[in-house]
Amino acid sequence: MGNFYLMEINYFTEMIEMAYQNYTSSRSEIHFSKKELQDLFLAMVVVTFAFAVALSNYGGFLNINWSAFPLALLISFLAVGSGFILHEMGHKFVAVRYGAWAEFRAWTQGLMMALMFALLTGFVFAAPGAVYIAGNITEEQNGKISIAGPLVNVIFALIFFPLSLIFSGLVINPILFQIVFYIYYINAFLAVFNLIPVMPLDGAKVQRWSTPIYVGILGIAIALLIPAFILF
Ligand SMILES: [Zn+2]
Repeated sequence: MGNFYLMEINYFTEMIEMAYQNYTSSRSEIHFSKKELQDLFLAMVVVTFAFAVALSNYGGFLNINWSAFPLALLISFLAVGSGFILHEMGHKFVAVRYGAWAEFRAWTQGLMMALMFALLTGFVFAAPGAVYIAGNITEEQNGKISIAGPLVNVIFALIFFPLSLIFSGLVINPILFQIVFYIYYINAFLAVFNLIPVMPLDGAKVQRWSTPIYVGILGIAIALLIPAFILF
């Protein structure tokens, strides 16, 4: 089982504020700038590679099972695509719906750290980037923008948990089982991790908006994650 920690770093920079001032496209319209697409692509490639290394690493420096690497790459691509990229898009879509400017930016140091950690230790510890948001946002709107990411992870975990049970029970295809299991496991893990109520994680912002909703989604996420450690 791969080990991974993904976090988002949210902070404003002059660059972002300038971009917001030049933001002229109409409200509530999803738009991807060239810079955002480049950053999404870069983060996707690096995190996918880092996860694949972690999944096929027996621990220690470059102790990688290369024959297992192509499958690890496929699993990693699907799990990172659903668990990380669509999580970020959850934040973006809700923020844009509230009329805010919202774009993903990769964090180069975080990506390099993820690569180095994976190669050296078999762990992924990544802060690959975050959706930067600018505009007038209320605390409630900020809470909803923040819950959207973990909610995407919860939905994927809800779909892929029963599929994991089915494929592990039938034992028809171990590769198919590994694919559905890791999509479930990584999504459940990312939901729980991002809901830790400490800034800059999503959990802190959701909890500030509504404690009952925060406790509810955290409960669902933890309940989804636990079977990964005891059933499989
Ligand atoms: Zn998030």
